[in-house]
Amino acid sequence: MIREMLPSDVPAAHVIRLRVRENRLSDPSKVTEQDYHAFMARDTMSWVCEVDGLITGFVMVDMEKRNLWALFVAPEHEGKGIGRRLHDAMCSAYFARKDLLRLSTGPASRAERFYRRAGYTDRGLASNGKELILELTQPDQMPARPQHLPAASFFDRPRPTAERPLVVMMSACLGGIGCGVDGSTNGDHTSLRSWLIRPEVRLVKFCPEDFSFGTPRMTPDSHGGNGFDVLDGKARSLAEDGTDWTEGMVKAAYEMRDRALREQVELAILMDISGACGSTVTYLGSRFAENKVYQKGPGVAAASLIRAGIPVISQRDDRSLRMLRDLIEGTTVLQDERDHWEKEWYQGYFAQQQ
Ligand code: SF4
Repeated sequence: MIREMLPSDVPAAHVIRLRVRENRLSDPSKVTEQDYHAFMARDTMSWVCEVDGLITGFVMVDMEKRNLWALFVAPEHEGKGIGRRLHDAMCSAYFARKDLLRLSTGPASRAERFYRRAGYTDRGLASNGKELILELTQPDQMPARPQHLPAASFFDRPRPTAERPLVVMMSACLGGIGCGVDGSTNGDHTSLRSWLIRPEVRLVKFCPEDFSFGTPRMTPDSHGGNGFDVLDGKARSLAEDGTDWTEGMVKAAYEMRDRALREQVELAILMDISGACGSTVTYLGSRFAENKVYQKGPGVAAASLIRAGIPVISQRDDRSLRMLRDLIEGTTVLQDERDHWEKEWYQGYFAQQQ
């Protein structure tokens, strides 16, 4: 399990730091446990890998200096992919805020090979003439993170209270209203609502398709582009029988946006894949086609919220949902959750499309 590092993990991390076979400290007293605590007190991020209650590796990155300070795996746990998983977790969070990362390591070491495989490039020797400087930029590391997701800085805010609740717009079906095309809630979302329905959150539920077409109804998808293109008149929104629903979809999208602005919505949680509420992925053409095709990009209603500057999370964005829950509950239990775009299906499907 990858989870955020706690001050109580420092002794175990430091023991690993002292036991590694490469990049050993020439003088073990050069880095003390106090240095870890001082590091964590600044604008930094750190994670550990925990296996059966034992810390098996850790990674620590300095946001201000854009420097990877430490990535170490206990010698008996090498070769199990732990370093890679820690590095991936770090990169996903780090590159949401920064675009360049540097580190120094011993030349011609296993560590150098590891970082080169991860996409780092050589920036020459450090001023001490002994260590190699390596650099990683986001485009080399991973596909761009969708801009509609809340930035990490969104969660750097005071914990909401009942007096000052976080205002969240929600797809009405996720909110438990039977407004799906067949009158259902499009699945069971009670676990999401179990931590979201509380005095510290004010939910504004809305179903754009029900607004324009009622329930039950046919299922619309975007043809010729995504929701932005439909808003711009470059693509159409068609019901499953081919009826052109563009006008009603656009009208509902702007109604949703106007309600959100009136209610001072700060964040939306919407149902991904929907031709209206989808945010990361939607269908390109009918979902009932024999060879259905997915596309990156939002549905029509989500596009109108994104253009209004409202960040959107979907029910599939586990990392962002966890960060939101941590904010609301005042906890820090982010583990190795992934947002939809980081998941295997998304990475595999769209890699094939290129
Ligand atoms: S349009 Fe949005 S809120 Fe309405 S059923 Fe579809 S996903 Fe849910």
